[in-house]
Amino acid sequence: MLKKYFLALIVVFFVFECHAQQQDWQTYYEASGMIATPRYAETMRYIERLDSVSAAISTGSFGKSAQGRDLRYVVYDIEGFNTPAQIRKAGRVILLVQACIHPGESEGKDAMLMLLRDQVVSHAYDSLFTQVSLVFIPIFNVDGHERFGAFNRINQNGPVEMGWRTTAQNLNLNRDYLKADSPEMQAWLGLFNTWNPDFFVDTHTTDGADYQYVMTYAMEISGNMEKGLTEWQKNAFIPSWEKRMRQAGFPVFPYVSFRQWHNPRSGLVSWVGSPMLSQGYTALRNRPGLLLETHMLKPYQLRVEATKEAVLLTLKILSEQKNQLEKAINQADEFTASKAFREQSFTTKYTIDMTDSVMVAFDGVAYKHEKSDLTGGELFTYDNSHPETFDLALFDKVLPEKQIQLPEAYVIPVEWTRAIEKVKLHGIRFFELTDTLTIPVQCYRFTNIDWKKNPYEGRHQVSKYAYTMEEKQVTYQAGSIVVPTGQALARVLAHLLEPDGDGSLLEWGFFDAVFEQKEYAESYVMEPLARQMLDSIPALREQFEAKLAEDPGFAKSSWAQLNWFYRLTPWWDQKYMVYPIGRITQKAVYKEVLMKQPVR
Ligand SMILES: [Zn+2]
Repeated sequence: MLKKYFLALIVVFFVFECHAQQQDWQTYYEASGMIATPRYAETMRYIERLDSVSAAISTGSFGKSAQGRDLRYVVYDIEGFNTPAQIRKAGRVILLVQACIHPGESEGKDAMLMLLRDQVVSHAYDSLFTQVSLVFIPIFNVDGHERFGAFNRINQNGPVEMGWRTTAQNLNLNRDYLKADSPEMQAWLGLFNTWNPDFFVDTHTTDGADYQYVMTYAMEISGNMEKGLTEWQKNAFIPSWEKRMRQAGFPVFPYVSFRQWHNPRSGLVSWVGSPMLSQGYTALRNRPGLLLETHMLKPYQLRVEATKEAVLLTLKILSEQKNQLEKAINQADEFTASKAFREQSFTTKYTIDMTDSVMVAFDGVAYKHEKSDLTGGELFTYDNSHPETFDLALFDKVLPEKQIQLPEAYVIPVEWTRAIEKVKLHGIRFFELTDTLTIPVQCYRFTNIDWKKNPYEGRHQVSKYAYTMEEKQVTYQAGSIVVPTGQALARVLAHLLEPDGDGSLLEWGFFDAVFEQKEYAESYVMEPLARQMLDSIPALREQFEAKLAEDPGFAKSSWAQLNWFYRLTPWWDQKYMVYPIGRITQKAVYKEVLMKQPVR
């Protein structure tokens, strides 16, 4: 009986497969002769067709864009599972591939539709998919994608029409990973928290100088990730992937910039990916991120093929390295949550060591450097019919620029709702105070701060600041949250809440209100008081005169002078310039806070 049932199933499966193969499975891109990329509706239609003939595919929505479009994702699991728990239980690792975060850069979408089709229709990669399941976002920035046209990428060689770089709110999603202002990124974080993929690929097209490589790439191996994961990327993934990309006809090079804009011979500079960027952000979450950047001047077809190969080889290496990667990730998560991690200093900002470089061979093209008689500026022109290999200095050593000691936990007062919301969005673990709590914490008191003149990503970033650290008793109201650093997402947490964190909430202006003086003293009230203060505190006159002598702006402003006296009176706002996030640094205090919590 069982045998008969099984045979019938095979027959059904066979008929089904034949039917699938008989259909025209060309993608929109292929049907166009490899020059055009499909719109949102067409892309989703093709995915639905694949879904309708394959039990291995499932699709879903992870949220809505600002204009109300569905943010779609596709799962390919060879057993048809569609939850991370089922997939992990089946022993597979999860690869997240994302396309069209910058919709004008659509190679990832076209490459992945073909890759999925090859697997669904021809079972081309069964051996890889027994080890790895795929989550694919065909179009991340859907609103930008539908701002479709032929004139969206002036530097780029195809496709014939394409989407626009930013969202409908004119935000660049690839600057939004940490601050998560856009509804699209907030939705993405939800997807990432749910799936917690083991490896992430973000597909792009780069502008910049011309060279021979169809594709460059970035991975975070400069020391900003945990040691074991860095080693795995450096020793297991990259050499194997680079070698196979070369064998497949797509030699690759790290995504670097020239020391001097457009000038290869000036040398190459590497960097640490900021957490506002995709691969920089996943690095904070202990997940390797591979940034793919095809080159804008190469034909679209070549760029799509390189992207498809890059993802396939990633699948291949993950299938071979599954156990090693899982082990490295688990160790990195455990270490980040450990006491040992808290006890070492955490680097919040890196800088490049411009005194130390290695020589590398760079496959560039001949170029000319002239002075423009139109603008008077420097003009570099490239001749890609003359490939040339340069021996160049690569500056890839990274040094810590700012470091801090992590506390046991942070406390976010209940009224700082936007900061609490960010902690939640990133899936960081916390608990809420059920009652008022007064505890000793460390606080940053700012002594100086300024902002950039022009907006960046819809915000005026902090341009410079100085602070001192002080210990004080603070009362937090019920509903305030305590966020322990003893968790796998401690790196994300530190970047959000430490003022020095690259891409911190402070840097993006989320706490600007505390830098506003809200009460003022009238001059006819303050002046007699200032005179009294000078008479009764002898040292004050000396300090006042010193300030007059050293600060010409102060000497000229009667307002600033009276405010200087106001600052020393009991009427002065004690919360002015004080960063509202508290740092619980004493273990005993943290223990006490924990003990006061109801059992969770
Ligand atoms: Zn891009």
